[in-house]
Amino acid sequence: MNLIEEIKKYFVYLNELGFYSFPATEKFKKFLQNNIHLSENTLEKIKNAIANCEKCPLHRTRKQPIWGEGNQESKLMLISDYPNKDEDFYGKPFVGSIEEILKKMLLSIKLKREDFFITHAVKCKTPGGRPPELEEILACKTYLLKQIKFLKPKLILAFGFTPPKIFFEHNPTFSSIRGQPIKIKDFIILFTYHPNYMLKNPAVKRLVWEDLQKFRKLYEQIFKNS
Ligand code: SF4
Repeated sequence: MNLIEEIKKYFVYLNELGFYSFPATEKFKKFLQNNIHLSENTLEKIKNAIANCEKCPLHRTRKQPIWGEGNQESKLMLISDYPNKDEDFYGKPFVGSIEEILKKMLLSIKLKREDFFITHAVKCKTPGGRPPELEEILACKTYLLKQIKFLKPKLILAFGFTPPKIFFEHNPTFSSIRGQPIKIKDFIILFTYHPNYMLKNPAVKRLVWEDLQKFRKLYEQIFKNS
């Protein structure tokens, strides 16, 4: 992906110098067609689809849907539940008081938010902050699955009760999947409590701490040779 970005910048530079065409082999043209189309159009298309989405009733009460934020080259993804009112206002995940808590949680495992691409399982705020209805989750799930398809994370940390509903049709209890590294297709996902839930239920703090330590171990196993 970096190489593609560099090639694009170089073309812009050539264009500014007044070059409007260049000699290229058939192989190179094919490479550009395949890769520039994939890296730009597909993610841009998903982003635009989310920005204009009216697939479920949540579009009526949101200020804006949230695509996500962070390092799109990263192989680490963080999936949160659904936007709260601050996130809805600012248009990005983990803003306001929760920002500092996330920072501390990630710092405890020697990571930072910039190491992740951060997004939500459901892209729009819910009325009064209620959990999204199953129909709303099902309407929205395609966006997260497409983000995963194109960003290709290897390791995902998922907060809250909504993300499991995207990945499991049989609706397992949260306690049966929490803290267990689960392999799905090409990635491993670890579910834990959302920091907001942890703040309201201090008894789960220790469990979240243990889950974060597991996540760190997985991170080291997966990325130690890369
Ligand atoms: S929650 Fe998802 S499906 Fe519903 S309107 Fe927002 S982006 Fe569309």
